[in-house]
Amino acid sequence: MARKKIIAGNWKMNMTPSQAVALVNELKPLVATEEADVVFCVPAIDIIPAMEAAKGSNIEIGAENMYFEEKGAFTGEISPEMLTDIGVKYVIIGHSERREYFAETDETVNKKVLKAFEHGITPIICCGESLTQREQGVTMDFIRQQIKIAFLGVTAEQAKTAVIAYEPIWAIGTGKTATTEQAQEVCAGIRACIAEIYDAETAEAIRIQYGGSVNPATAPDLFVQADIDGGLVGGASLKADFGKIVNWK
Ligand code: PEP
Repeated sequence: MARKKIIAGNWKMNMTPSQAVALVNELKPLVATEEADVVFCVPAIDIIPAMEAAKGSNIEIGAENMYFEEKGAFTGEISPEMLTDIGVKYVIIGHSERREYFAETDETVNKKVLKAFEHGITPIICCGESLTQREQGVTMDFIRQQIKIAFLGVTAEQAKTAVIAYEPIWAIGTGKTATTEQAQEVCAGIRACIAEIYDAETAEAIRIQYGGSVNPATAPDLFVQADIDGGLVGGASLKADFGKIVNWK
């Protein structure tokens, strides 16, 4: 069965709650489609107002992060139950900005992935190489390690429902999109890695996004690639461009 595309916005640390409502209202008619799942991953404080604004539309509101403990003395963190209590179904895990600025590791990513599944939240698991790694020819070695650790203890049934976002760090927020060949090659490599860990059926089912300066001009070539099942979009998800990316066909 063909995999349904999933196109997600990552708002990062942008949009106040009132700006979030205005943006959802502006984008609602522009991202209407049956052909793809459309998710806006927004700052924690924006989740409830964005959900209210998105009511009756095809937009799912997701989170940008989540902690791996149930509750307790973890000042400033958001628990899985806080997300499920308000109906959140998706959470970005292990974005490269969280790895770089907030010391997230493959191990904490794995703990968060397991916790998300435990609570029925679909993780959008980020991976991707630095420019140095690409230039040294170790891209796939590095990503295979990220994937293998992220999926430790995850069952095949859970893995089938996961989303992986391949985001080369050198392409995030730089205006430098990976070429379609580069993006497809790594996404195919990730699918092969999932087949090794699990089986062909799991690899066929899992959805793999490309992320890194996706815009309305680059989206169509990327999204027709055999192993690219949509995109994780930063900058362009904050404007009307996101509608064009979602309706890329
Ligand atoms: C991202 O934040 O995940 C991202 C891909 O950002 P941008 O589209 O701005 O490169």
